[in-house]
Amino acid sequence: MAVAAPRRTHVVPSVALAVLAGVAPLLTLVWLSRHRALARSERMLETAVDATIARVDRLFGDAQAALTQLASETGGVFDERTTDLLQRAVYNLRSFRESGLIDAEARLVCTSLGPVDPPVLIVPAKRSTPALQRMQIVGLVDTEVMRQRSLILGLPTTGQGEVNLLLDPAVLTEVFETAPLGPGGTAVVIDDADRVLAAFGLDQSAVVQDDEAAARLQVKRRSERFGVRIAATIDRDWALRDWYADLNWLIPLGLACSALLALLTMRLASRPASMHDDLRLALRRGEFEAHYQPTIDLATGRCIGAEALLRWRHPVDGMVRPDVFIAVAEESGLIEPLTEWLLDRVAKDLGETLRERGDLHIGVNLASGHFNSPSIVATLTRILKPYQLSPDRLMLEATERGMIGEDIGLSRSVMDELRALGAKIAIDDFGAGYSSLAYLHTFKFDVLKIDASFVRRIGTGALSAATIDAIIELGHTLNARIIAEGVEMPQQADFLRARGVHAAQGWLYSRAVPVAEFLEFLRRHS
Ligand code: C2E
Ligand code: CA
Ligand code: CA
Repeated sequence: MAVAAPRRTHVVPSVALAVLAGVAPLLTLVWLSRHRALARSERMLETAVDATIARVDRLFGDAQAALTQLASETGGVFDERTTDLLQRAVYNLRSFRESGLIDAEARLVCTSLGPVDPPVLIVPAKRSTPALQRMQIVGLVDTEVMRQRSLILGLPTTGQGEVNLLLDPAVLTEVFETAPLGPGGTAVVIDDADRVLAAFGLDQSAVVQDDEAAARLQVKRRSERFGVRIAATIDRDWALRDWYADLNWLIPLGLACSALLALLTMRLASRPASMHDDLRLALRRGEFEAHYQPTIDLATGRCIGAEALLRWRHPVDGMVRPDVFIAVAEESGLIEPLTEWLLDRVAKDLGETLRERGDLHIGVNLASGHFNSPSIVATLTRILKPYQLSPDRLMLEATERGMIGEDIGLSRSVMDELRALGAKIAIDDFGAGYSSLAYLHTFKFDVLKIDASFVRRIGTGALSAATIDAIIELGHTLNARIIAEGVEMPQQADFLRARGVHAAQGWLYSRAVPVAEFLEFLRRHS
């Protein structure tokens, strides 16, 4: 019989767990750092776009104020003061290149550089719509005088007239000159008619299409005040360039973390399951058996019953002794279901025999947990009923320590109720270790089982003999039946018989055996 504590490991889930634990940190690290790199680039883009919107709002706002002033100062009419007025407007605004006045006949008559002579007729495409009485973004135009591509802002005056300001479009996207947009980076300023007002970067064509968005990071904003939109993009690969470089150390680091975690998980997961879990599993899988050790009437030599003892047939470790697992079962509250199982097993195994033979009693061990709640009383009745077995065929064994639950009053009432059902109560291992004569009066019991350690000392010395004599005497005085445990030699049986001990169990007669063997023994010793 194996005595070693049972071990059962869970290999498959532990490997799966380890793989998961191994891959998770690597993937998380890589994904997180990529996400952060993209977020950083996107924030940079947003900052640049927001700054551009602010610049557009300020420049156009300044232009609007200046044009309104020019319109009222010139009255839309060219005279000797006009050049000065136009020059002053450009000087004050700085960012603007040039300023001009178109007269009521739609002719450019003066710019901030001086009078235009002869005046140049301006086609409608290159100027504001006179009917609209507000500043208009005319668009990018090749100007007549300086022959430069400029962004024109125009405010209509009387007749077909206009005062205007010309802006270098690059001023609008200046922010992007210093923002790290990378080689594929673009920035476009467009108006509500989708005309490009300014562009930065290689792709000067138009607003970036949405289907390109996957390969590019894009940020869009709109200035409500002037109906202008800004869109800026950078290549995703470029945004991730630092991340690609970081992968050189991220991956080895991630792999190291992963390996460590995988190892740890493996160690943890493959740690043997606790015996508590093992016991629970064993109960579910039906790994327990009941063995029976016969009790012998010392006067007649006949078998008068047996003690039912649990055996655990462990799939790996073989037979596990109760000494090993009973204590764990008691601690983890599994002793109740285990006892229920045993009671049911006893009823199944011996129900028929017990109904035929009214003189037989079966001993079943109870643990201290059973005396801490009254449920054992109902449990006993419930289990025996289907087998038409009366509780008085059972001898419930418990050590004194086991009988004293957390609440002595409760223990006693549980015991009284069990006795009221007819069950016999036996004090197990009497005299061994913890014994207090006081409790012998507290609990009503029927049987005293003398511990094997006393039986073993029979014939070895006068003092021991005196002790066992005293115990037997005590049993007689308390009017209890006395059963001696662990009887291995005929001299021990003779000694006990001579002193009026009623019954005995031990290897002299039989070990604890499976039910079939016990029934055979019973047949031969009836
Ligand atoms: P116990 O109640 O004192 O049971 C008697 C033990 O002594 C049994 O050991 C039995 O096999 C052993 N034994 C019987 N005759 C001899 C002998 O001549 N010489 C020697 N050396 N030993 C003998 P087992 O089956 O290993 O049980 C050990 C203990 O485990 C039991 O002691 C009992 O306290 C506990 N146990 C067993 N089954 C149950 C159970 O179903 N419920 C509870 N609560 N405890 C149990
Ligand atoms: Ca016992
Ligand atoms: Ca015992």
